[in-house]
Amino acid sequence: MKEAEVALTHILDCDRASLYLEQGLKLDKEKSRELSQVFLRRVAFEPLQYILGQAEFMGLDFKVNNHVLIPRPETEILVETAARYMKGVRSPQILDLGTGSGCIGISLSRMLAGSSVSASDISAAAIEVAKANAKEHSAKIEFLQGDMFAALDNKSVLYDLIASNPPYIAKKDFSGLALELSYEPRMALDGGDSGLDYYRRIADGASDYLKPRGLLMLEVGFGQYAHVEDLLRASGKFEILEKVNDYNSIARVLVARKEA
Ligand code: GLN
Repeated sequence: MKEAEVALTHILDCDRASLYLEQGLKLDKEKSRELSQVFLRRVAFEPLQYILGQAEFMGLDFKVNNHVLIPRPETEILVETAARYMKGVRSPQILDLGTGSGCIGISLSRMLAGSSVSASDISAAAIEVAKANAKEHSAKIEFLQGDMFAALDNKSVLYDLIASNPPYIAKKDFSGLALELSYEPRMALDGGDSGLDYYRRIADGASDYLKPRGLLMLEVGFGQYAHVEDLLRASGKFEILEKVNDYNSIARVLVARKEA
């Protein structure tokens, strides 16, 4: 849907087709005031999803606010890839590392019957949002708070899959970015000087939390795939299984397996 359609269907509480087909739809005074408020915030570059408090991901509505990254369509490729690999695994144990709104873990939990999903984040405010989304979508998720693998400090479980869409924007690139991004939590975006800080930490630490031959799936930013592959190879702990491109033929998801 176009943004104007998203705003109108939200305010009128109807679907897209009704906007065009339903004769009786009216924008009364209150609703047109609401719509103006939306436009005023939007022209100041605030993302529509924050204004409306919701974003669509994998066909589901997720609650969002400025404590969580807005789920992106590219991340659906990570979820679909993860589901493809986990389909054959019985009762898979899955970790969504840096869950934000919860979009990855919640989607996987719903797609994979019998799965156990844990979701971690450094931000308590993000976990609050993810919890609300899990409740809304009837997903039973274990939430863990902490900085990357520190969130797992008191746990002894090993996972079949760790999936993550870590912060990956390089510091030097921030100034040239769309103004909308300034509304999103910096810590969800900032990947350090090279943008690769979190991939480095994941390459170092992830194998300690995976079963033998457990899988690691990472979303990567534009132009980062080869660097992340190098980091994982250099760790000596992973073999690379697959590179998945997005719809613009940009390498977007890396699948690696912990060496047995
Ligand atoms: N896992 C969440 C998402 O993919 C949050 C990611 C992040 O904050 N970097 O949208």
